[in-house]
Amino acid sequence: MRVIDAHCDLLSKLTEDLSLDIAAADTASDVNVPRLREGGIALQWFAVYLSQRLGEPRFAQVLKMIDHFYSRVVSQPDVKPVRTRGELEAALVGGKIGAMLSLEGADGLEGDLANLRIAWQLGVRAMGVTWNHANWAADGVVEPRGGGFTAKGKLLLQECMRLGIILDVSHLAEAGFWELHETLRGKPFIASHSNAAAVCAHRRNLSDGQIEAIIRVDGRIGITFVPYFVASERPTIAGVLRHIEHICALGGAAQLGFGSDFDGIDEWVPELATPADYGKLHNELLKYYRASEVDGFLFRNWHSFLQNQLPQ
Ligand SMILES: [Zn+2]
Repeated sequence: MRVIDAHCDLLSKLTEDLSLDIAAADTASDVNVPRLREGGIALQWFAVYLSQRLGEPRFAQVLKMIDHFYSRVVSQPDVKPVRTRGELEAALVGGKIGAMLSLEGADGLEGDLANLRIAWQLGVRAMGVTWNHANWAADGVVEPRGGGFTAKGKLLLQECMRLGIILDVSHLAEAGFWELHETLRGKPFIASHSNAAAVCAHRRNLSDGQIEAIIRVDGRIGITFVPYFVASERPTIAGVLRHIEHICALGGAAQLGFGSDFDGIDEWVPELATPADYGKLHNELLKYYRASEVDGFLFRNWHSFLQNQLPQ
């Protein structure tokens, strides 16, 4: 079993706890090296997310989190950075845990596209435009006015497209979703950690129209394990499977994967609390889907996407 997971917030925990050591099995984080190994994680995405607790978002904070990524995650003997197709394949062939950087919210770029280019040079390969609130680029899902992109935000989109940064619509308000969809003109984009609103009506989940739009452009949707995005009451692994079934029914069996949000949550779906629990999800999926489909959900769908999207 191999797994690609498109979202976790370990870097936030590393920022808050300078003594956290992810080589150890018993840590204060959901994600650590032994658990990534146990869960068969071939590639984990690590989000740079600037919590409001850090104060005014600054690019210096983004750089510090990228430093934590290199000095405390990628420095582990079993972990290799993934910035290119070549590095992805090398990590897979070598049986290493690949680690990829993403940016959750453009807030820390301070409205300066030079900062986006620097982040790209430092290995950031995907970007969610917003977190839940509005920022200089666009509105997030909880912003009451529900606006789309600002003029500067539109320039940000253009620069992401020019560089080849994968655009992520998780957290983005619906108006921005459709603007992004139109701007990209058929180029694929992703929702790294969102579920289906038809199964669990939460504003962080995607409507059927949004899911179908992502499927049409051959983008990807990372099913997430955030309990209140799985079910409004009593979330379970079976509840996670209902989102998969729904997206499959909309024609998205080849477009869905996972984006757990481990270390970004303080409540968990029972039996889905750390990367080590992917084995339980795998076993549950095998009760309902063919092995090749399960491999698609857990690994191949993200893998084929990244083979196309990452630079050479
Ligand atoms: Zn998030």
